[in-house]
Amino acid sequence: MLEAVRAIKIGNNKETAGDLIDQGRCPICCQIVGGFRDGLSRREFTISGLCQGCQDLTYTEPPKSRQEVLDEAGS
Ligand SMILES: [Zn+2]
Repeated sequence: MLEAVRAIKIGNNKETAGDLIDQGRCPICCQIVGGFRDGLSRREFTISGLCQGCQDLTYTEPPKSRQEVLDEAGS
């Protein structure tokens, strides 16, 4: 776990990300961290402390809009 991540203040500023992680909770959604899809996700958790759901939201690129696809195809 990165100390810089652990020091991040959460919500009411009384807890840090490290406090939540120590309780087995995700520093973004504050929910109990459950299982992981694969080894990569598990490794990411050891770095950032994020649960699978928040990893998906943080690291997955949003699908392209129809206009973006058209722009790339055209020009
Ligand atoms: Zn989460």
